[in-house]
Amino acid sequence: MEIFINVILPIPLEKHFTYRISEYQAAKLKLGMRVAVPFGKSKLYTALVVELHNRPPLVYEAKAIHDILDEEPIVTSIQLKHWQWIADYYMCTLGEVFRSAIPSALLLESETLILLNKDVIIDEDQLKDDEFLVYEALKYQNILRVNDVMEIVEKKNILPILNRLIKIKAIVLKEEIHEQYKPKMVRYVRLGQRYNKEAELEKLLDSLTRAPKQSQVVLSLFHLQATKKKPIKLDELEIDSKSSRAVIRALINKEVLEEYFIQTDRVVLNSTTELKLPKKLNEYQVTALNTIRQNFDHKKVTLLKGVTSSGKTEVYVKLIAECINEGKQALYLVPEIAITTQLISRLQKYFGSAISVFHSKYNMQEKVEVWKNVLDNKSKAQLIVGARSALFLPFADLGLIIIDEEHENSFKQFDPAPRYHARDAAIILGGLFNCNVLLGSATPSIESYKNAQTTKYGYAQIDRRFGNVLMPDMELVDIKEQHRKKRMKGHFSERLLEEITETLNQGEQVILFQNRRGYAPILECTTCGHSPQCPNCDVSLTYHMHRKQLRCHYCGHHIPIPTSCLACGSNTLDTKGFGTEQVEQELNTIFPSAKVGRMDLDSTRGKHAYAKIIHAFENQEMDILVGTQMLTKGLDFRNVNLVGIMNADALLNFPDFRAHERTYQLLTQVAGRAGRTKKRGKVIIQTFNPYHQILKQVTTGDYLGMFQEQLYEREQYKYPPINKIIRISFKHKEYNKLNEASAWFAKALRNASEIEVLGPEFPPVARIRNQYLKHVLIKIPKGVPLQKTKKNIKRIQISFDAVSQFKGVRIIYNVDYM
Ligand code: ADP
Ligand code: ZN
Ligand code: ZN
Repeated sequence: MEIFINVILPIPLEKHFTYRISEYQAAKLKLGMRVAVPFGKSKLYTALVVELHNRPPLVYEAKAIHDILDEEPIVTSIQLKHWQWIADYYMCTLGEVFRSAIPSALLLESETLILLNKDVIIDEDQLKDDEFLVYEALKYQNILRVNDVMEIVEKKNILPILNRLIKIKAIVLKEEIHEQYKPKMVRYVRLGQRYNKEAELEKLLDSLTRAPKQSQVVLSLFHLQATKKKPIKLDELEIDSKSSRAVIRALINKEVLEEYFIQTDRVVLNSTTELKLPKKLNEYQVTALNTIRQNFDHKKVTLLKGVTSSGKTEVYVKLIAECINEGKQALYLVPEIAITTQLISRLQKYFGSAISVFHSKYNMQEKVEVWKNVLDNKSKAQLIVGARSALFLPFADLGLIIIDEEHENSFKQFDPAPRYHARDAAIILGGLFNCNVLLGSATPSIESYKNAQTTKYGYAQIDRRFGNVLMPDMELVDIKEQHRKKRMKGHFSERLLEEITETLNQGEQVILFQNRRGYAPILECTTCGHSPQCPNCDVSLTYHMHRKQLRCHYCGHHIPIPTSCLACGSNTLDTKGFGTEQVEQELNTIFPSAKVGRMDLDSTRGKHAYAKIIHAFENQEMDILVGTQMLTKGLDFRNVNLVGIMNADALLNFPDFRAHERTYQLLTQVAGRAGRTKKRGKVIIQTFNPYHQILKQVTTGDYLGMFQEQLYEREQYKYPPINKIIRISFKHKEYNKLNEASAWFAKALRNASEIEVLGPEFPPVARIRNQYLKHVLIKIPKGVPLQKTKKNIKRIQISFDAVSQFKGVRIIYNVDYM
């Protein structure tokens, strides 16, 4: 009987694909292992085995696989279930989930680009013939596609060759080059192989009697090897032999010594720090912890609402310690891993080397390392800290999931598919492991708080800051009035300036929040009103003073700042609105002796940029830090006593049904950076609308008032959490085609069901990178089965795809759009 396997391919196919395997392969193959398979005319993919069976496919001839790539499964059965849920719920294919879940180093395919790894010197003798051919070819060609490799070795079955070359670090995949990550290599030395024989060694020592310095080095190496029984670093040898690099270099050239490199485990954190016991909790923390435990006993997802600086993190620490003691794994999800250096060094004090960090900016080797450690339940992967993608790791035995700052919208993946919400997907994962799930926030999402109110979730809270530090004193400043009286200095009100002066005089630090990067949003001609536009997108270019450029924030297009109007030629150009860069510059003029730093997307490119700014501010190398919403996320600075919000109105007026909820969250979180330790902090909020309800709720800390009002509005307008929403986007470069296609789809939706359909409508930026964009929003009331509605939508898409004039129009589903 013939044997077949069903596999997931890393491409958006609706169905599994079937291949034929031999009996010999069947004996070796287990579900969750990777295989190399041919696809289409000449493509080659890494696929994942999900079923073994004896049913030949009906409509195509099953091809044979090229090869089995693993000895043991690299994906677990729980993962497969989880992925299936994600694909069903978020309306994408399993292939898309597979592709984004697995580190790309495990996913070689025909289009993958391969380069030589210039950081590692490879002993060519250890390469097998085929490997050597590829390695040689790369020396001459710099870059190869997997397809080229097939020709070079005249074989189809080449993924094993490439996988081994990756493993010994001889080659890297193209993606890594983007990150320009240099693995940390340490230089080691050992005696040349020839001298492993005693006779040769004696000869050597004899010959070196005339070179005392070199002889000293060799003896020193013996000494070190004998005492340490570990590889010897070149640095160590240099010190121990009291010799110089040049002497050692000479010995290496003579092949007496051999130099080699070992990559230090990149993900190993600073493991020398001494471990500390978790802090003793105060009574409020203890009460919260006990409530959480009681809810966990009933296997309930639990929400911990604790004001900023109430000590939530210390409560998490207790739960993590319990989980690890039971021998289980804990997952700690944070909205943005790049800014968690503070959190990580804090956790390290308690858990030392049991922590692994899963970082989207890590290169593929690092990701593979963490992947394998988690799969094998290694002791150094007991606690995983990561952003949303850490959810896809192959957990062996998960006991606890913490989702910190659960209200953050960066938990939702926007692009590409799967467009999942990590909090919601984590709750499903928790269900599959039957493990504890804790959501934490000072400002919970309306969704989660409602779930707590209806007792779907358990609920615990901490109302006081740790050490009884008072919540900051918040003051609203009416800048309309200030403008009218001409009392503003740049974008600063008198009150804000007074407070900054006072704070600086006390030797304390200031954080200023302006949710817009760049200098000013736009440059406008006061004569004709023209402002330079992006040629690819329907937006005005943003003014960046520092780089002397106008830039598009959507596609990166940029031009030098023009000196006269591009439309009418007058030199009456003026800036409109303002961004972080302008705030920074005004500060430099108003407070010339203060040191000002800036934290936004422009100042934090690169892997360690965030950490550097945070560190500098912590060390009080800066007095004032100006930033965008990056500042809000869980930072803990000791010496900040004033937080200023430059302009709250832009947030409030954002065209989105969550704008008010978000404003509340954002302002409360930024304000929470003030006065965390000793004395009461001060927060100044500048606004044109001091009587706005949300701003009042922020200043009085009235979360419940905000929640009730927002929930009421959501009920009125049928938005989440009352209704479910799905946003369907249509994209095409022809305006008319897009209009017709989206109208057709919306009409079909309206005919099909009892759901409410809004649109199609152009978003505020209706063209991005030369593609027009239109959205349809679907509201699905409670009681209407979700999966059925989604099936209906997919059915409509099938008819849509059959209409030839709509060919090429892209459809993107975003379930629970936010
Ligand atoms: P949150 O996570 O709620 O914002 P943190 O856990 O960061 O609050 O705690 C705020 C500050 O109080 C931190 O500096 C933390 O070290 C300190 N802290 C919290 N709980 C305790 C405790 N039980 N004992 C000593 N210090 C604590
Ligand atoms: Zn003009
Ligand atoms: Zn653009």
